[in-house]
Amino acid sequence: MEEFQDFTQATKLRNVRYDVRGPIAVEAARLERAGHRITKLNIGNMAPFGFEAPDSIMMDMIRHLPTAQGYSDSAGIYSARTAVAQYYQTKGMRDAKVEDVYLGNGVSDLITITLQALINPGDEILIPTPDYPLWTGLTALYQGIPVHYICDENNHWWPDPEEIESKVTERTKALVIINPNNPTGAVYPREILEAIVDICRRHNLMLLADEIYEKITYDDAEMINAATLSDDVFTITYSGLSKTWRVAGYRSGWMYISGPKHRALDYLEGVQLMANLRMCPNVPGQHAVQTALGGYQSIQELIVPGGRLYEQRDVAYKQLSEIEGVEVSQMDGAMYLFPRLDPEIYPIENDEAFVMELLRQQKILVSHGRAFNWIDDQHFRLVTLPAVEELQEAIDGIATFLAQYRDA
Ligand code: PLP
Repeated sequence: MEEFQDFTQATKLRNVRYDVRGPIAVEAARLERAGHRITKLNIGNMAPFGFEAPDSIMMDMIRHLPTAQGYSDSAGIYSARTAVAQYYQTKGMRDAKVEDVYLGNGVSDLITITLQALINPGDEILIPTPDYPLWTGLTALYQGIPVHYICDENNHWWPDPEEIESKVTERTKALVIINPNNPTGAVYPREILEAIVDICRRHNLMLLADEIYEKITYDDAEMINAATLSDDVFTITYSGLSKTWRVAGYRSGWMYISGPKHRALDYLEGVQLMANLRMCPNVPGQHAVQTALGGYQSIQELIVPGGRLYEQRDVAYKQLSEIEGVEVSQMDGAMYLFPRLDPEIYPIENDEAFVMELLRQQKILVSHGRAFNWIDDQHFRLVTLPAVEELQEAIDGIATFLAQYRDA
């Protein structure tokens, strides 16, 4: 019989990483099957921690199930797109129209579509490091070059516009910002955003603004939508229901396209084609959008003193800061901390092996810094979603593990 070769994955996947759901998560699942209880501080998945969706959203989905059986328009249902356009109008983007809005199976789907339509092999995309790794992973998948600009942990994890600009080349096509930031919890001030917008203006770059955490900010942090800062920079703003409205499983997100669209007609044709190829976003999820945007904004209760997200953030920050050799910046937004382990005390050679050991010993699952394309092995990310008691117990476990590491 003829010898066939084994089936293998496409070569272009060899450069694609998404370690947040990689070997560590697989090992955690194995331990769970073996009967261990794992505290999962690795993914910003709110519902399992008791952050349930507002009832109105669930009821709206349920009510619409009978009418949501068919495909919708590829860009999404009209009522939801109108609601998104109106939402951005109230935020100061007075020209926002329904045609500028696309709905997606979460923001992930829309990032996929917009990068697919954009990148030719060798094109450079400026992406923060640390990043939300989908941006780097997809850029690599489409054979573009992710060029990372550094967010500075000694300066609130803000990026430095000068450093960003020094990385612009004639192959650079777009600049990605994630604000509020995953994994650092940073919220960018106006001057930095204005400087970033100006870089895009002067170098003719597309600005891709991932603002999925826009309503999750704390204390005085002011969230400024990048698209409000210019009308002459082509900008795509991404957001959705996964975080603020706690329904990540409904896979419902949107993007809003603003700026000089007349200079992007060909690109937008490509975006439409990509949207058409995947038929349409999941229709029940789209029905939740109008109610989410127009209804009671219950996230507000969670992010003020006394609110769960606020309190957990405080507890996690304080407790981590007390551990010897752990340096951590308090988050201004989102729900992640990205602590640094002092290399004098914890000389870590391989951060993935390090968090794997933490998992095996303490049954606590966090993500290693390099999973976010970070540049050293001294960081890890944890989500602050568990209720205070569970969070304290988990951080105690991390402290115990670190103490053993120090003494070893
Ligand atoms: N962008 C950022 C910065 C995220 O943190 C996430 C999810 O964690 C996403 C996008 C993907 O969100 P969605 O559930 O809407 O696909």
